[in-house]
Amino acid sequence: MAPETRVTVEQLPKRRNLPTVAVAKRADLTADHFKLWLERPPDFDFLPGQYVTIGAGGVERPYSIVSSPREPLIELFVERIPPPAGKLTPLLHALRVGDKVTIRPRAKGVFLLRTAFRHHVMIATVTGVAPFISMIRHWAEEPYGDVSFRVLDGASYTDEFCYDAELDTLAARHANVRFVPTCSRPADPRNAGWNGATGRVNVIAEELVRVWGLGPEDTCIYACGHPKMIEDVKARFAGAFTLAEERFWKEPRR
Ligand SMILES: Cc1cc2nc3c(=O)[nH]c(=O)nc-3n(C[C@H](O)[C@H](O)[C@H](O)COP(=O)(O)OP(=O)(O)OC[C@H]3O[C@@H](n4cnc5c(N)ncnc54)[C@H](O)[C@@H]3O)c2cc1C
Repeated sequence: MAPETRVTVEQLPKRRNLPTVAVAKRADLTADHFKLWLERPPDFDFLPGQYVTIGAGGVERPYSIVSSPREPLIELFVERIPPPAGKLTPLLHALRVGDKVTIRPRAKGVFLLRTAFRHHVMIATVTGVAPFISMIRHWAEEPYGDVSFRVLDGASYTDEFCYDAELDTLAARHANVRFVPTCSRPADPRNAGWNGATGRVNVIAEELVRVWGLGPEDTCIYACGHPKMIEDVKARFAGAFTLAEERFWKEPRR
């Protein structure tokens, strides 16, 4: 771990008197994808799908919360963006258990489960799966109603499906949960041995919604993650289906 990317207390944002929390646990899934579990302040409440804003080194960024509201820690799923583009994630990537980050006291966001709908088609790219895990964990704690959750997760590399085991388990336990991971670069040697779906998740989503016979009257389509994927999903479904979106970043204007 490079010493220059370590976060010291002096580097935490000084602008405000923000509370800090320690990293309770971490797990590295690929060279750039990792999960962080942060201590949860006693009065920190959130709804599944909301995000928390954390900071280090004078930089703050929002992160969708993976945990369900009942869990004692705040779980995050982060992709490291190498510098110079990435500002906060190289610092987060260097955090060790016990290191601290600032935390805004309130969770925010309106990317919530639309409970008026029966079927929930959740389209994600890599880290975009985070809010959907929170929503489904929350549902699975006390399953209710005649609902379905269909998570479609797209990645360039199959080792980026960092919640596949959990989603496979949920799908095995609950007939109304389905998980379709799809790899957009199946020929890449890093994906050797992949025998799941291939192609872009936005394209597969349109096919599957048709195959599953889902109709706009009782289906909500959610898209989270890469802004281009979200644009394409909107182009395919807008006007017919109710859509909810959470963009993790903005594409630069041309
Ligand atoms: C509501 C909301 C929720 C978010 N939740 C998550 C989350 O759960 N996990 C997460 O990793 N990020 C999430 N993000 C993105 C996050 O806030 C940061 O932008 C990201 O972690 C990169 O931070 P950075 O300071 O290193 O680089 P930034 O200066 O923020 O971004 C630099 C560039 O990196 C690229 N980029 C940003 N985020 C990602 C990403 N997730 N995957 C691939 N490329 C990216 C974009 O091209 C961006 O212009 C979320 C953003 C929003 C608005």
